Amino acid sequence: MSQQTQTNTFEVEKIRKDFPILNRKVNGYPLVYFDNAATAQTPKQVMDAIVDYYSNYNANIHRGVHSLSQEATDKYEQARIKIQKHFNAEKAHEIIFTSGTTHGINLVASGFSSILKEGDEILVSAMEHHSNIVPWQMLCEKTGAKLKVIPMDQKGELVYSEFEKLISSNTKLVFLNHVSNALGTVNPIKSVIEKAHSVDAAVLIDGAQAAPHIKADVQALDMDFYVVSAHKMCGPTGVGILYGKEAWLEKLPPYQGGGEMIATVSFEKTTYAGLPHKFEAGTPNICGGIAFGAAIDYMNAIGFDEIAAYEHELLEYATNELKKIDGVKIYGEAAEKTAVISFNIEGLHPYDIGTLMDKMGIAVRTGHHCAQPVMDFFKIPGTVRASFSFYNTFHEIDLFIDALKKAKMMLQ
Ligand SMILES: *Cc1c(COP(=O)(O)O)cnc(C)c1O
Repeated sequence: MSQQTQTNTFEVEKIRKDFPILNRKVNGYPLVYFDNAATAQTPKQVMDAIVDYYSNYNANIHRGVHSLSQEATDKYEQARIKIQKHFNAEKAHEIIFTSGTTHGINLVASGFSSILKEGDEILVSAMEHHSNIVPWQMLCEKTGAKLKVIPMDQKGELVYSEFEKLISSNTKLVFLNHVSNALGTVNPIKSVIEKAHSVDAAVLIDGAQAAPHIKADVQALDMDFYVVSAHKMCGPTGVGILYGKEAWLEKLPPYQGGGEMIATVSFEKTTYAGLPHKFEAGTPNICGGIAFGAAIDYMNAIGFDEIAAYEHELLEYATNELKKIDGVKIYGEAAEKTAVISFNIEGLHPYDIGTLMDKMGIAVRTGHHCAQPVMDFFKIPGTVRASFSFYNTFHEIDLFIDALKKAKMMLQ
């Protein structure tokens, strides 16, 4: 029995029926899936959309005159509009389908190589995922622009006063995650964007970790670029979107050349297609885009406010229970957090803990979580990370805590 019963009316047992994988056993134990920050599980409704696509209207899009091609095109473009509405973009063509967050960031970084010059500066936070660091380092190597780092403090919060000192008229670009995947910190993106715009710098927000929990309004926040991956929002892997303000997307050159992205091609001169096709060379992940739309429908039917409130209760409960265990140190105690807990137990290696937990059916992540600079900051090789989703339960947290106590006993 759970030591705490939830205080709201969130229908988690009903929701769990949509996720067949949650019924399976791992190493003889019921699966407790707490690796949601790496990828979320897929509900039947999204699987149905995938089966429907391949069973009924699998065809290449945009060029075909036949019915299947037109149906596939319609469904794909409807998905784009769903995603546009969800993030409240002004125009559907400001939504570019990508293979995920990493692709979206590389597309923008590559585009800025024709804009930046020596002496320009770009700012990054100290708590980024590698995918929001490495493309910018590559951009700096190409252009001679300089990368500067906005520090964080021991709680895992951005030091805003340092950001205010770093930003200047030399700053051309700021990129920051909305939520840190390693710590769960929710960053003050509204203030960062306003401040950056006051010096005419563009802002790219990495929304990969925020989008499953917070419905971001790209117009209200005045974002220039926002990137997400479908697989962290109950959709399939290998698909995501880049939102870009029309004016920016017009300004950036195409990322890849090929079919779909052209208006006319001859050996003398090729002209590019308009948005969004300019950035969508080649046959896209058609089924993935449609399934992403289905995932967004699914999550909206539950409601993002309801999801956030319930996940917050899970976070508070798990944090309190963890703190009762001797030797536990939690990394990332920002005032505003999503349901991610990174921690270590004194004297134990995270990898050993993770391995023993898996033997008891519990999936947690161990390591640097693609955020080595965060680990360096805390002077640790890695952490154990438990990350919750709206289909997790208080009972699962109890199982996790029990397993952790057992693992601790075995290792000490
Ligand atoms: C997962 C994640 C990424 C990378 O997403 P991919 O789907 O692997 O491209 C980038 N940033 C953050 C904050 C993430 O959580």
